[in-house]
Amino acid sequence: MRSRDLFAEAQHLMPGGVSSPVRAIKPSPFYTAHAAGAHITTVEGETLIDCCMAYGPLLLGHAHPDIKKAIAAQLEKGWLYGTPTPFEPEFARLVTGDHPGMDMIRFVSSGSEATMAAIRLARGFTGKSDIVKIEGGFHGAHDAVLVKAGSGATTMGVPDSAGVPAALVAHTRQLPYNDPEALETMLAKNTGIAALIIEPVPGNIGPVLPKDGYLKDVREITRAHDVLLIFDEVITGYRLGIGGAQVMFGVRPDLTTLGKIIGGGLPIGAFCGRREIMQLVAPAGPVYQAGTFSGNPLSLAAGIATVRWLHDHPSIYPDLSEKTRGIEESVAGKGNTGGSFVRIGSMFKYFFRPDAPQNYTGVKECDTAAFTRFWQKMLKQGIFLPPSQFETNFLSVAHTAKDLEAIRGGYAACR
Ligand SMILES: *Cc1c(COP(=O)(O)O)cnc(C)c1O
Repeated sequence: MRSRDLFAEAQHLMPGGVSSPVRAIKPSPFYTAHAAGAHITTVEGETLIDCCMAYGPLLLGHAHPDIKKAIAAQLEKGWLYGTPTPFEPEFARLVTGDHPGMDMIRFVSSGSEATMAAIRLARGFTGKSDIVKIEGGFHGAHDAVLVKAGSGATTMGVPDSAGVPAALVAHTRQLPYNDPEALETMLAKNTGIAALIIEPVPGNIGPVLPKDGYLKDVREITRAHDVLLIFDEVITGYRLGIGGAQVMFGVRPDLTTLGKIIGGGLPIGAFCGRREIMQLVAPAGPVYQAGTFSGNPLSLAAGIATVRWLHDHPSIYPDLSEKTRGIEESVAGKGNTGGSFVRIGSMFKYFFRPDAPQNYTGVKECDTAAFTRFWQKMLKQGIFLPPSQFETNFLSVAHTAKDLEAIRGGYAACR
């Protein structure tokens, strides 16, 4: 069946025809038959260069042979036990070892689950009820964080979801990114705040880059007011480097949430933090958290293989950074483009506004109609970008020199 027919059928059977909102590309998404390396092949047999990479997890590319081997080896032994496996302490040691100050970890099955549990834990530890999030920060699709959220919530123009009780969201406060004074003012005025949850580098409206010293200010201000700092590194963990944004910027949060890359492409999430906080998680303590698929051996096998591969190939991080710089140059080479190119490591985006956005308000000022025209032109050239002005593009280690030349050419010709 062709993509258009598949989508027509799916729309009768599934809300919007998709399993997650941002995939509902207008007028019709392409359906994928298979993928390998940096390439995704549609059911029509067209092969595209992928710069979406499943929205972040596939740092090593599609179907990386080492990850495939790890999954295949585990498949032979069964894929779900409901009992502990040796993978758990092994992966716990690896991931906590890469994040200084994160002493203990709990594995879950998605990033949403990780942020939901981390928020509950922060409330349990502090005995306080309110949380602060950053406007445009996306932390998954659960009630407490569906207020001015990025990702699909911004793309679809429904920043506040129906079905979320007002009383519940009343415990979630909002602040603009890159504004330490606003944070200081809010924390000075309100004593009921348990935690600030923040994507250290917002990836679901960007990337948007932190101003010099912003994350250090955030650390000092939260500490001074006894508010826990939760870094949501579901995108940035192992994406910006080993240890993610917290190591890159030298800032130590109290709790960290991870996901995406640490599952090697299989479903995963995790939250980790200081021992005295993590000791409150059940069954060690009174903050309840549980999951049938948590720490399942397939996801952990893929995750361990991914993280070990990254430990063995640290040069990929400067290499990827050099590659996104090359893409930026291909845009700059065209003179004043009327847009702005933002990149950090292997994350990049061309914003249809004259200068780099500093926060959610700035991102929303982009010319989204111009973005859509650009996106369609890129697809015609065989380059698949995330279908939204608000979603980050990702490179993987599988993008070859030839792929990059095509991407640079696309940017030079289309934007
Ligand atoms: C993707 C994402 C999540 C949600 O993770 P899921 O695995 O999709 O539930 C949470 N936080 C951030 C920063 C994300 O990018």
